[in-house]
Amino acid sequence: MYRDVVIVGAGHAGAELASTLRRKGFGGSILLVGDEPVAPYERPPLSKACLLGTIEIERILLRESDYWSTAAIELALGCAATALDAEKDGLQLSDGRHVDFAWCVLATGGKVRKLNCPGSDLAGIYYLRTLRDVQAIGAAIGEARRLVVIGGGFIGLEVAAAARQLGKEVALIETQRRVLARVTSPVVSSFYEALHRQRGVRLLLGSAISGLEGEGQVSGVRLADGTVEPADLVVVGIGIDADTGLAEQAGLACDAGILVDEACRTSQPRILAIGDCSRHPNDFAGGLWRLESVQHANDSAGAAADTILGNPGIYREVPTFWSDQYECRLQTAGLTKDADEIVVRGDAGQVPFSVVYLQEGRVVAVDAINAPKDFMAARHLVRSGARPDRKLLADPSIALKSLA
Ligand code: FAD
Repeated sequence: MYRDVVIVGAGHAGAELASTLRRKGFGGSILLVGDEPVAPYERPPLSKACLLGTIEIERILLRESDYWSTAAIELALGCAATALDAEKDGLQLSDGRHVDFAWCVLATGGKVRKLNCPGSDLAGIYYLRTLRDVQAIGAAIGEARRLVVIGGGFIGLEVAAAARQLGKEVALIETQRRVLARVTSPVVSSFYEALHRQRGVRLLLGSAISGLEGEGQVSGVRLADGTVEPADLVVVGIGIDADTGLAEQAGLACDAGILVDEACRTSQPRILAIGDCSRHPNDFAGGLWRLESVQHANDSAGAAADTILGNPGIYREVPTFWSDQYECRLQTAGLTKDADEIVVRGDAGQVPFSVVYLQEGRVVAVDAINAPKDFMAARHLVRSGARPDRKLLADPSIALKSLA
């Protein structure tokens, strides 16, 4: 069979690409292949409302169920792409079909990193990436009294917050000396550490794990100092790796992600890559970046659509991200990596407040906590490379947008 566009991966990026192509008038055939057995859905609620059990599955679907047929987007769900021939423009599917294509877009996302210490194969240890994962956690969490979360990144902290809201005893283990160490400044980490401690989470920072204990079922997490943290349930959130299996097999250039240019083209220009699986040149941070966010999934899909429609442009969007924990929403614009100075707007111990990151006086990122107006303005400041006066910046009574 032949399709004009075949998209591998029916997550945020794949679904957004298919619908953007239609919205922009693409009339060719589109096949969206996804190995999960469900229509495209949002992942962010998995570690929030889905874990709390306060949202129905229908409400996290990315499109209404009749959208796909109405838009003439063919779905192959519960079906994996198993081999990609980059020379002959062909894709093999697990249901036995072979698809020739004009364009193939890889939107394969990421695979969770797994523990490989002794005991990591015990029952009661969960990872959180898919709807199936959250359903499994949901089925087990009711009986559990003590939950141990491994990893103090966004997913781990969101799971800890939800588990506390469900009344569980929660301990969170992080190897770094602070939570969110990879993505934010110590001042924001401290705020989240205090928030979680106030809500009753036991934070074990700077703690390495030497193994998991139990007879068939996990009963505790052993730390490097020999102490054992009792657990009825363990949720692990130690990051993902880009899913590059298909791309590597096809001989496409990969290096901790599928390498793409500014128009989402891989080393084979009729094959594109978007979303979490791709590593792209990022103007705002310099160098190649692999971003894990809904914004990047959606905006890179938009750039790929332009490439397919014959108007390849330059993907240049300010990276944004959000995280909800308890009643606090963190919204980030830009990337904090190269900042050499930070300015706090407000009292860093109390919401709302924002942290502005500067590099040689230029705004490169803003973390806004319960401060949506600062976040909105932040995108403009980062995009324009604004150099505001530090005193005005530090004054929360002065609107950030007036400094753009
Ligand atoms: P994915 O959404 O992972 O989709 C990839 C799909 O491809 C998957 O369904 C996968 O199974 C499928 N696939 C892979 N290989 C094949 C194959 N060979 N054949 C067929 N199908 C294949 N981002 C935010 O900005 N804010 C948040 O608050 C936030 N919270 C999150 C909470 C959780 C629990 C998780 C897991 C992620 C969260 N993210 C959040 C990140 C965000 O969801 C991801 O960045 C986004 O989903 C990436 O979209 P994607 O399409 O690139 O990958």
